[in-house]
Amino acid sequence: MILLDEIDSSLKDLKKRSLIRKRVVVSGRKKNKIKINGRWLINFASNDYLGLSQNSSIKKAIISGINKYGNGGSSSHLVSGHTEAHQNIEKITKNNIGFASSILFSSGYLANLGIITTIAEKDSFIYADKLNHASLNDACILSRGKFIRFPHSDMVALENHLKKNKTKKKKLIVTDGVFSMDGDLANIPDLIKLAKKYDAYLYIDDAHGYGILGKSGQGILEHFEKKDSIKKISKERIIYTLTLSKAVGISGALVCANKKIVDLVINKSRAYIYTCLLYTSDAADE
Ligand SMILES: *Cc1c(COP(=O)(O)O)cnc(C)c1O
Repeated sequence: MILLDEIDSSLKDLKKRSLIRKRVVVSGRKKNKIKINGRWLINFASNDYLGLSQNSSIKKAIISGINKYGNGGSSSHLVSGHTEAHQNIEKITKNNIGFASSILFSSGYLANLGIITTIAEKDSFIYADKLNHASLNDACILSRGKFIRFPHSDMVALENHLKKNKTKKKKLIVTDGVFSMDGDLANIPDLIKLAKKYDAYLYIDDAHGYGILGKSGQGILEHFEKKDSIKKISKERIIYTLTLSKAVGISGALVCANKKIVDLVINKSRAYIYTCLLYTSDAADE
């Protein structure tokens, strides 16, 4: 608990170290430009990689969804908020990404929290790349599993950790697909090999890869699909999360996994159960 007089000194300290954060107020957005303080500027600082946040058919689908279902989700998925539109988006992943099942969260942050805290428990060992996104680190800490961070992309260090805990049953490797600060790619083929060899699950957060990597934009698994380890992979041991808030230009996240994991999430994930859901766009009318 931070004491009231500590708040001042904490903020002062951030200011002194030039670390204080300020929000820029945007008053308009058109194509690649944003309006700040009355001026239109070219925006080099966004995740809208394909410009889809301005796409007119997606806008129409969202408006049509609002007309059909109303402005908000009105309740959580397990009460009465789960619509046909949510159900349909979960089906897409089966054909496109090749996972048996998927589940929609209202943000990438919540998806990471909701999945990792559900599948990892006190007696789990979690191996996480040092440069993973903050939301993954928060999820690992919150799961109360043993949180082991290995140096960035160091497969030897990761294998050494896995070897040490060879006899432990519950193991989860956690990685960004495209690392969000440096833009480099995780070594997915080797991570899959290690997951297989040591009987671990592999969790991939592909927030920056989906829509960008792979010949049809299906993300990092498609990008590496020609590699032998990927060709032969059983997706049973992979959990693949794509966010809709980056290249797709809207919000939300889809977690692709085997059906048992999705069923467990529906039943146990606090970050899925205890939150209202995403507004509904109605792509079915397009
Ligand atoms: C942006 C980002 C998230 C969070 O996604 P939101 O949908 O914005 O909550 C999660 N993981 C990574 C790697 C990200 O870059």
